[in-house]
Amino acid sequence: MIITENRKIVIIGCGFVGMSYAYAMVNRGACDELVLIDIDRKRAEGEAMDLNHGLAFASSNMKIKAGNYSDCFDADIVVIAAGVGQKPGETRISLLERNAKIFESIVNDTVRSGFQGIFLVATNPVDIMTNIVMKLSGFPKNKVIGTGTTLDTARLRFILGDYFGIDPRNVHAYVIGEHGDSEFVPWSQALITTKTITTVCTQHPDRFDFDEIKQIGDVVKDAAYRIIEAKKATYYGIGMALVRITKAILGDERSVLTVSSYLNGEYGINGVCIGVPCVVGRNGVTERIELSLSDEELKKLRDSADFLMKTSEQLGIKEKTPIKQL
Ligand code: NAD
Repeated sequence: MIITENRKIVIIGCGFVGMSYAYAMVNRGACDELVLIDIDRKRAEGEAMDLNHGLAFASSNMKIKAGNYSDCFDADIVVIAAGVGQKPGETRISLLERNAKIFESIVNDTVRSGFQGIFLVATNPVDIMTNIVMKLSGFPKNKVIGTGTTLDTARLRFILGDYFGIDPRNVHAYVIGEHGDSEFVPWSQALITTKTITTVCTQHPDRFDFDEIKQIGDVVKDAAYRIIEAKKATYYGIGMALVRITKAILGDERSVLTVSSYLNGEYGINGVCIGVPCVVGRNGVTERIELSLSDEELKKLRDSADFLMKTSEQLGIKEKTPIKQL
């Protein structure tokens, strides 16, 4: 990565997700330069104008423009949110073929610019799209990150916080696995402040019921379906999740986030990108944390990885020779 004082982000795909992220970035003053790329150039230009006109009210200044792939050259992060989204009732996996096709030109054009930063992928099905970016780019595995289950984890923490009457930021629980139908909550690892949820339930049987709590995992899993049914797409939450990951990277925070990254033997899983707690900083994902899962939870994670592996294999995308980076 070229380290400069100028924090530069390129967004590819200026739809609901890309622009919710851009809007949140401007409001947080989280970078110095924002470049918007879309196959619909006019749309990118209109979005850049609209955001620029809000700068007078922003907390800090920022350069915002519609650009092209040569702008990726000195970017710190290229965020990909291009592609089709789910229609009501549609699974994320059903988007795969359409989105895989458009990624070939996006990733090739980005790499051709000389880009050496970090790819951050939001397009669904995000775990497989992250793997595709890794294969097509030849980038080191730490530098290709998907949003994984960061949004699902945020949804879980919000609902658990509401249930226990505790600030979601003091809920330490994760959704792991595929960002999709095989994701799950490893309840053995879920803490409310410093106590496991099972302990809290045992200590307060009159107030909290573990069987009831376990159903929250399904509520989280189905959240996107319910939002899409109601308003056609989900975007604010993922926009803010992308900002959170961006800040962890640019600030070298070494924050633990359930992003999707390439597993290399962790949990006995090899060769897929999947959401597990990872340490995220300036060099991307530097560590994948191995939770002490129960046997049943480990099986669920491996089944989720198997599903992603089998679905990816059907696409038959060949891995590019890894490229050396400075
Ligand atoms: P959208 O249709 O509003 O926007 C997609 C944008 O991509 C459009 O502006 C389109 O012109 C652009 N585009 C299409 N092909 C392109 C190409 N080849 N090059 C450049 N731009 C191109 O869709 P959306 O609601 O913003 O969703 C985008 C993606 O994000 C979908 O795949 C959706 O499922 C996914 N998503 C992911 C999460 C998550 O948690 N990871 C959450 C919500 C949505």
